[in-house]
Amino acid sequence: MTIDYIVKPIAKPVLTFEQAFYNYPDILIALKKAKLEKPTPIQCQAWPILLSGEDMIGIAQTGSGKRLAFVLPAFIHIDGQTTPKEERRGPAVLIVAPTRELVIEINKEVKKYKYRGITSCCVYGGVDRKKQVAAIQEGVDIIIATPGRMNDLMKLGHLDMKNISYLVLDEADRMLDMGFEPQIKRVLYGIRPTRQTVITSATWTAALRRLADSYTKDPVQVCVGSLDLTATHSVKQTCIVSNESEKEEIFFDLLHDMAPNDKVMVICGSKGKTDYISVECIMRRLPSVSIHRGKEQKEREQAINDIMDGTASILIATDVVSRVLDIGDVTHVINYDFPNNMAEYVHRIGRTGRAGKTGESISFFTKEDWAHASELIEILEEANQEVPKGLCELAERYDKRNKQKNEDDELPKRKQLTLADLCGCSKEKFCRTQRTH
Ligand code: AMP
Repeated sequence: MTIDYIVKPIAKPVLTFEQAFYNYPDILIALKKAKLEKPTPIQCQAWPILLSGEDMIGIAQTGSGKRLAFVLPAFIHIDGQTTPKEERRGPAVLIVAPTRELVIEINKEVKKYKYRGITSCCVYGGVDRKKQVAAIQEGVDIIIATPGRMNDLMKLGHLDMKNISYLVLDEADRMLDMGFEPQIKRVLYGIRPTRQTVITSATWTAALRRLADSYTKDPVQVCVGSLDLTATHSVKQTCIVSNESEKEEIFFDLLHDMAPNDKVMVICGSKGKTDYISVECIMRRLPSVSIHRGKEQKEREQAINDIMDGTASILIATDVVSRVLDIGDVTHVINYDFPNNMAEYVHRIGRTGRAGKTGESISFFTKEDWAHASELIEILEEANQEVPKGLCELAERYDKRNKQKNEDDELPKRKQLTLADLCGCSKEKFCRTQRTH
């Protein structure tokens, strides 16, 4: 049997905005207005691929400029539609993202580079559906939606999907992590198969591979950095190995030592801990806000506004919420509680050190987290960061404990087989001994 591989020529990367958009002077003007100097690596690769109509999978961290990488080709895609605008029914572009905060952020990026009257609207849960339906029915070109609310609107027949020909699944790994696979699949079924599909993700997991295999056509994969789990090198990573009881004091010392212009994101493992740290911050007159899923949408928006406009400089969030916040200029990420997996660690510290800036991450690590010690050491070493002695000790102790545990697990089997040996006699002799007793 022979296997035929289709080797497609892949569009060459661009090095400047002009190379990518020489035919689109309005886009060049918008980029100039935004004072961007040069394309980021993912943009260099993605623009020629997306402008030639190919499907693409972009593996890149948040902060790499991946949104502009798919937003500008989306504008050109809409502008190139053959049906006149007034005759078009339904949006031409759908961008699906894991949470409302991300949806709002993407919409801001769309509006910032506004192109030839292209309109967009956000669709997410937790708010009244009517306004969103009204906005859609007015006729928008781009819908930016969370999977859950998008499904609701589709089921209720509020959305004409026939015209959608450019689909983006942003942060697809997170959507899968959050259990949105069924909703995503329903959305994908509703859209014509001849669409152009873009998937972005920070990690390249087996679940994502399956999704990409089923719903993209010969996609070009663009990977910024390594496919292995590595942390961005623009972040100085510090790991503090301590007991749970010592954390609080060290943490507040750290906060007191922050410079006035620092913007700190503190991530806790639970709502309860988030509330507790938040109250402690208020008692100590530290300019902080907190955000978790138990808070009203209005409170969450207020907290984000306060941190964006500098009214507060410390944001305390649960891990679930912190994943989806996109707050520029975060100088420090503090992992008050260490994440449950290392992909999450990499995501979290990627909240700082973005868009050409450097950042700092400080992670508390207790004995409870020792299962992650070896992987954390690998990530720290790969990024040339200091590895604390306590972390190496925990890694060794965890390894030893695991080996011991494995041996213990095998022991009952061996015991059965060698009961006679344990008595210090041969099997036959042991049997005889047993009988004689
Ligand atoms: P993203 O990875 O899309 O979340 O982008 C992170 C931030 O980088 C956003 O605030 C973008 O506006 C910004 N950004 C996007 N492209 C560029 C660029 N070429 N140069 C500098 N900043 C950029």
